[in-house]
Amino acid sequence: MEFSSKLLENAVAEMAQLPGVGKRTALRLVLHLLKQPESQTERLVGALHAMRNEIKFCKKCHNISDVILCDICANPRREDETVCVVEDIRDVMAIESTGQYKGLYHVLGGKISPIDGIGPSDLTIASLVERVAQGEVKEIIFALSSTIEGDTTNFYIFKQLEPYNVVTSTIARGISVGGELEYADEVTLGRSIINRIPFENSLKS
Ligand SMILES: [Zn+2]
Repeated sequence: MEFSSKLLENAVAEMAQLPGVGKRTALRLVLHLLKQPESQTERLVGALHAMRNEIKFCKKCHNISDVILCDICANPRREDETVCVVEDIRDVMAIESTGQYKGLYHVLGGKISPIDGIGPSDLTIASLVERVAQGEVKEIIFALSSTIEGDTTNFYIFKQLEPYNVVTSTIARGISVGGELEYADEVTLGRSIINRIPFENSLKS
């Protein structure tokens, strides 16, 4: 791609760093911004800047939040004896949209994946074990996608939790194997949480 402007080229190069955005799409987006009033670009830059600088991770569940304790953890009407283990905020959003779950969450920040160099210490597993060790958690629901990495992560956490008196369950797999949780429809996902099965049973299949 030949550019008549270095400024334009730099903007396109930065935009093209985003996932799913190729050079041609990046050019289209940048040219769109150029046609709009300058204030629109300023609002975009301002929103990204504020997000990057001010965003927090809930000290309890590690979900993305604007405050130290997220709205879900801070809500006294949530059942704090049940904790649903998920990969990231998209899973929290998907499960919340079902309206079927009243417990709390624990956001791992990823899955164990040796190929990608992600080990247990790169995730918030120690913090989850700590929550369980404190004794207020009675049930852990695994809701990671059913990939090899998801299964590996579930099993690792299951082993870590064995010394504690906590029930472990996994969401029923109405969700297609290998399908990401965020793409499951709300009814299926809601039903799979209600019909969750003991984690040990999922190991036998
Ligand atoms: Zn929280």
